[in-house]
Amino acid sequence: MISLEWNNIQDKWLRRWQEDSVFQADVDPNKQKYFLTVAYPYPNSPQHIGHGRTYTLTDVYARFKRMQGLNVLFPMAFHYTGTPILAMSERIESGDKELIQTFIDLYNVPKENIASFKEPINIAKYFHQEIKTGMIEMGYSIDWRREFTTVDSTYSAFIEWQFAKLKEKGLITIGSHPVGWCPKDKSPVGQHDTSGDVEPDIGEYTLIMFQMDNIRLPAATLRPETIYGVTNLWIRPEATYIKATVNEESWIISRETANKLQFLNMRIEIKEEFSGRELIGKKVVNPVNGNEVNIFPASFVDPKNGTGIVMSVPAHAPYDFQALKDLIAKTDELNRLGLSKELVESIKIPVIILSDNYDGVPSQKIIDKMGIKSQSDPKLEDATADLYRHEFHGGKLNDLTGKYSGMSVSGGRNAVREDLLKQKIGIIIYEIINSPVICRCGTECVVKIFENQWFIDYSNPHWKSLARKCLDKIKILPDDIKPEFDYTIGWLKEKACARKSGLGTHLPWDREWIIESLSDSVIYMAYYIISKYVNMLGIKSQQLDYNFFEYIFFEKGNLEDIATNNKIDIDTLRDIRREFVYFYPLDSRHSGRDLVSNHLTFFIFNHSAIFPENNWPHQIVVNGTVLMDGKKMSKSIGNIIPLRNAIKTYGADPLRLAILSTAELLQDADFSLTLVKTFRERIERLYDSIVWVMDSSEKSEIGNLKIEDRWIISRLNRLVLQTTDAINKLRLREAIHTMIYLFDQDMQWYLRRSKSNLDDRTSINVSVFHQILEIRVKLLAPFAPFISEEMWELLGHKSYVSVETWPKLDESKIDLEAEESENLIKNVLDDTLNIIRVTKIKPSRVVYYTSSEWKWIVYSSALSNLSLERFDFGLLIKNLMTNVSLRNRPKEVSLFAKKIVYEMKTISQDILEQKMKLGTLRENDIIKDALEFFKRELDVEVSVYSEDNPSKYDPKGRAGFSKPHRPAIYIE
Ligand SMILES: [Zn+2]
Repeated sequence: MISLEWNNIQDKWLRRWQEDSVFQADVDPNKQKYFLTVAYPYPNSPQHIGHGRTYTLTDVYARFKRMQGLNVLFPMAFHYTGTPILAMSERIESGDKELIQTFIDLYNVPKENIASFKEPINIAKYFHQEIKTGMIEMGYSIDWRREFTTVDSTYSAFIEWQFAKLKEKGLITIGSHPVGWCPKDKSPVGQHDTSGDVEPDIGEYTLIMFQMDNIRLPAATLRPETIYGVTNLWIRPEATYIKATVNEESWIISRETANKLQFLNMRIEIKEEFSGRELIGKKVVNPVNGNEVNIFPASFVDPKNGTGIVMSVPAHAPYDFQALKDLIAKTDELNRLGLSKELVESIKIPVIILSDNYDGVPSQKIIDKMGIKSQSDPKLEDATADLYRHEFHGGKLNDLTGKYSGMSVSGGRNAVREDLLKQKIGIIIYEIINSPVICRCGTECVVKIFENQWFIDYSNPHWKSLARKCLDKIKILPDDIKPEFDYTIGWLKEKACARKSGLGTHLPWDREWIIESLSDSVIYMAYYIISKYVNMLGIKSQQLDYNFFEYIFFEKGNLEDIATNNKIDIDTLRDIRREFVYFYPLDSRHSGRDLVSNHLTFFIFNHSAIFPENNWPHQIVVNGTVLMDGKKMSKSIGNIIPLRNAIKTYGADPLRLAILSTAELLQDADFSLTLVKTFRERIERLYDSIVWVMDSSEKSEIGNLKIEDRWIISRLNRLVLQTTDAINKLRLREAIHTMIYLFDQDMQWYLRRSKSNLDDRTSINVSVFHQILEIRVKLLAPFAPFISEEMWELLGHKSYVSVETWPKLDESKIDLEAEESENLIKNVLDDTLNIIRVTKIKPSRVVYYTSSEWKWIVYSSALSNLSLERFDFGLLIKNLMTNVSLRNRPKEVSLFAKKIVYEMKTISQDILEQKMKLGTLRENDIIKDALEFFKRELDVEVSVYSEDNPSKYDPKGRAGFSKPHRPAIYIE
């Protein structure tokens, strides 16, 4: 087998594609356009196999659409905006050994470059080039003329316009809102700024003020209505608590709470510190009913959560119930803390929510039902969630809640909260629910009430409904993720859109702010049209005022004035406008699944606000992540392979196939190097057959087609249809499986039937083979573009396969007879080999018997009767008996019909229909024609008789077992 020089082949085609500008897309009025983009990369590290998935998937789709005759625009840019690069340069500056080692060892950055990385822009520039080269080497069919970075001044002009536009529409607000915050960077944090890319999820808690003389002990809760069911407070004895003056009141809280409250704009002065133990056994007053409740110890209290003081509602919180039970059992601890067992046992548990199926104490009931024995039982999570859901949806507050009695849980919750706030015995605080969220600088994030901050108002109800309308029209692939978008549109609130540090565009009306990275990346697809002209003509940012954008995007304003003021000639302005009208809206937006709840939803919101309906995007495609040999890729496991290293070692084409072949869109793809090698070998075998076919002399005429030729052509057409269908739905795993594995299987059968192997293919129809190979190369081209170009050239073409026409299904080449014939031969051969294997006979002779004519009549009748609305066996027999040739064997007919019908019921409708369409198969002729093949495969004398043949050789009377499509077999 040939071993290909993958890297040389890549270089050759990269050079040619570039020389001939194969992937540049401009306005072509005679061609339909297709505009697709993938989230531009953030250049703070080289791309690895994991990144390869989204980009390769997009490229395959772009190439497929191009071959379908569309004018495909696939551009690329680089997202420099934000703080992560800044944080990296600071770490380099401070001589962070770990980061420097990562750069040198894992990312292959030359040592001499490191010093320059103290300047953040140099990090971005370095990895920008690295990523771009990797994309080129991967064969991505990108129109590079449109490349830009988000810190280009011309791009900033565009973003300033976008923000002015949002402000003009009343979608930018200034105010105080809680945001995720890095105390070290003094900056809001979003998903892009945190390690592990987690979005800080901010929850709203009510602090309820329990009273100890003049001191307040605030307990944080998400369920203020349960204040009426409180039996005690929980404190962690080993934790440190403080007494502090908070906004002129005296509070006791955990030490960790003090820090958090400062960011929520409370004035705090710490007076004294003591251990939680000192609080145990004391009593506090419940502010809503004046009841005295005890303070008890609990190890599950986390001083970092809430205030480190937890109110205990045992009737409705299974954890609290179990904690009380456990406490009674721990006599030693009770003694040590000076508590009496009797005191804990004497606690009455008030039930405040009534619901179906829960008489008595609900927590107790569910704990007993689930067999929970201790606080550390993980089933407590489920018990909590189940009970909560049950009471939330069907529960009513009872008399113990006073004036709230009869309210639903959610209604009561809001009413109680409002009253607590009004009476100043409750306040609202915010906290990160999915804590700890760690900033990329290594600091744990907090919630900050951010004052006089600029927000994009995603809470605006009119905007939400516009976004929903936009979402309704967008095709989401895969479809089942659409509700996640809807859900995100629902919960999104005001989002902080600017920072005081980082790279990016300044807010045009308040220049000390820099627009952050999830806000300057929402409509940039439109800028790809402009960037081509900016790059080609050297247009400067001063030439791009708001009027320029208004004209290009909406055809507003006076063209002459815009031309004069911006020093851009009228024709150029017209060209840009024409190109925008041609390529917009975006046909397909591609991204990883983690961006659904932020970027992709912002993309929908902003398009709906800024562009008219006819320019709203058409499709969003979301894909899952990549695992390496079943494991998550991570620096610590050391299983991250930079893309460029992998290309050098394995070649881009096998890599592309391996990345896409193990999973459909939302599943995690499981990448392995074994798989890459498998694809390499399969492609090399295909290459071999092309070399062979081109070396063969007799390729001029197709000539007479044998049955196996007709069969492979028929199969080919079916596989083309299946592959096309799969790519259309972006089911690329299925497409690869069909056009590579299934096709290889068919080819093997074809070669076997044609008495062929690589050394001896004398009886193969070279022209047919040639035709098949051409189509295979075309099908492969979007997935493995380099080797496909090479093979296309080898097949004698001067064109690029990248822009060839995608093969179409030729309905007339679907040959049912050939397909059924080959099925018959394959099944008969498989059955024979099975019998030989099971019986361990060493055969000297094999005889086949094909069905009597009367059996075919019964078979056909049964088939057409089965397709009727109501199948009636009696009617079938009655009809059959009207046939003269059957009348003399009524018993046989009835028995046979029963058997046949029974079998047919296990076969799929499609196959039955196909068999019906085909009618009687000339089985005897088919097997006769294939006798040479059977002899070769079985290496014995093979003969065939019709069951009807009176002089047949049938010593054991086997012929009677024959059925249509299932000849009987005799082996001796
Ligand atoms: Zn930070």
